[in-house]
Amino acid sequence: LSAEAQRVLDEIDEKNVDFLRLQFTDILGTVKNVAVPADQAEKAFTEGIYFDGSSIEGFVRIQESDMRLKPDASTFAILPWRDGHSARLICDVINTSTGEPFEGDPRYVLKDALDRASEMGFEVNAAPEPEFFLFEEDEDGRATTKTNDAGGYFDLAPKDLASDVRRDIIFGLEEMGFDIEASHHEVAQGQHEINFEYDDALTTADNVGTFRTVVRAIAAQHDLHATFMPKPIPRINGSGMHTHISLFTEDGENAFHDGDDEFDLSETAKQFTAGILDHAEALAAVTNPTVNSYKRLVPGYEAPVYVAWSDRNRSALIRKPAARVPAASRIEARFPDPSCNPYLAFAALIHAGLDGIERELDCPDPVRENIYEFDEAKREEYGITTLPSNLGEALDALEDDDLVMDALGDHVAEKFLEAKTAEYDDYRVDVSDWEIDRYLETF
Ligand code: GLU
Ligand code: MG
Ligand code: MG
Repeated sequence: LSAEAQRVLDEIDEKNVDFLRLQFTDILGTVKNVAVPADQAEKAFTEGIYFDGSSIEGFVRIQESDMRLKPDASTFAILPWRDGHSARLICDVINTSTGEPFEGDPRYVLKDALDRASEMGFEVNAAPEPEFFLFEEDEDGRATTKTNDAGGYFDLAPKDLASDVRRDIIFGLEEMGFDIEASHHEVAQGQHEINFEYDDALTTADNVGTFRTVVRAIAAQHDLHATFMPKPIPRINGSGMHTHISLFTEDGENAFHDGDDEFDLSETAKQFTAGILDHAEALAAVTNPTVNSYKRLVPGYEAPVYVAWSDRNRSALIRKPAARVPAASRIEARFPDPSCNPYLAFAALIHAGLDGIERELDCPDPVRENIYEFDEAKREEYGITTLPSNLGEALDALEDDDLVMDALGDHVAEKFLEAKTAEYDDYRVDVSDWEIDRYLETF
């Protein structure tokens, strides 16, 4: 038993933990649990816990369904909303027939991307900004799209009725080990954002799953439904999950920083940016993986539509945020949304960026004007392309992009395309309320 695992066992003892939730994530990004009594903890560390992978979205075929969960001791945390007697451990998934990591495990896909970064001499830091809405529940406890407040950006109580809920959410997150940097009411009614401290990309991806779980659980205690759906209400801002990324060298230097550059960005940062811009259309399938994602990526709502970067404006795909300290130079990918699988999204972004470094891609000039206001001729003049306008186009772009397909690995790429194509096809044959309202009486 490792020293870290032993510390977990001691804490389980000290704090009278009854149940352990062993967690992992399916291809669609849903956190799955296998609950075991706490006295199984030692066995979980030494032998792992077996489960049937055939019932997990995109995992395996029925014939080869035995999987083993291998807990990562560093992820131990007590769940604050279970009277303090339940805890979770995030696990890697092992293929029992080979004893090797299971290639369909999204956490493995991200580890693989981080290995590639490490071979190139880099460690990857990431910080996400998941936005979400709080909605009221109806009498039956079902989610509505009625917001419970009328606050706006940075509004203070009493208008921001949700500030109590947000405070409880923050306490819950802090109990689970999060360092919260800031929280505020977002632009839209009922919309919120809580920012947490950056970390290495794997820890951050783990944190995104935990964040979504904590936010939903604590909102539910206040009879509210928290949603990370990208665009729950038409014609107002949707919810993004801007992702800040920087590369550090093994001796702790920020490889994205260059104080002599106009934007404080190193050549490495610019090549990384160019790599993301180059693969943007295929990346969208992973970072914006739902039908609804593309309702957010429209002009006018602070979400990107055009493939460009900027040192100031919010209509670009990538922004160079002003850094408080120069050493904090980083880029902000503004297109991801919180319906993505964070492991796959980070892995794809990292591979695309590293590809830019490997191919020494030239980074275009930043675009400082509001790109929403450009017409087609002006976009052409600037060489600005657009993101896919729906999930179907994004999936086509993904299939055509070998680098992003390889980033996912054969297993995940195949299952992801299969599941998402079915999702898009189902949407395509459906008839929406908008169509009924517009056409039923007209024709
Ligand atoms: N809600 C906006 C989006 O969809 C972002 C607002 C902001 O800049 O924080 O990306
Ligand atoms: Mg925001
Ligand atoms: Mg942001």
